[in-house]
Amino acid sequence: MAVVGFDTTVFPKLNYKDPEEFWQRIEEIKGFFSHHKGQLDKVFEKAPAFMAAFEKLDPLIQSYTSKVCPYCGTVCCANKFGFPEFADVVGFLALGLEIPSYDLDVDEEAICQFIGEGGCVLPRPQRPYRCTWYFCDPLLVQLEIGPARDYRSFINDLQELSRARGELLESFFQIWKEIQAEKER
Ligand code: SF4
Ligand code: SF4
Repeated sequence: MAVVGFDTTVFPKLNYKDPEEFWQRIEEIKGFFSHHKGQLDKVFEKAPAFMAAFEKLDPLIQSYTSKVCPYCGTVCCANKFGFPEFADVVGFLALGLEIPSYDLDVDEEAICQFIGEGGCVLPRPQRPYRCTWYFCDPLLVQLEIGPARDYRSFINDLQELSRARGELLESFFQIWKEIQAEKER
């Protein structure tokens, strides 16, 4: 799947291994959204397309994971994958979503704290983006053996999600970078 996304490493690292720094950084991002709301119009304008792309993709992914995941012996959802990066938090806030109450005092290799009986309890847009982009081999096989038309449409939907997220993050980054530079002057 050759999809070019936004390079999120341009943002500071959100390190779940350092709880104090993790929550401080999340508060900083929240503060940025509330203090600069008036300058973030372009970011909020991009939010509906990002949400729509999640909504389009979710039922199809669900239909595949519900076939494959209940029989999985090596569940991929570990705590370390359930923690967000900086760009994920930007996405949550741009979409008007709450930041999940992460418990950082967990074994990072253990099954993710957000796993419920029917899979992940977080709505897809409130999960780290990597969760939507992870396709294990059995899932890929399910996708590939399905109708070609479904597969093509799935790839298009994934590309649209990547595009919509990329545009939103790019808009945010331009404003964020400028304000950071002003602060440093
Ligand atoms: S996505 Fe794949 S590895 Fe993860 S739980 Fe489902 S079947 Fe298992
Ligand atoms: S999909 Fe949900 S349960 Fe799985 S790692 Fe991501 S946040 Fe955790």
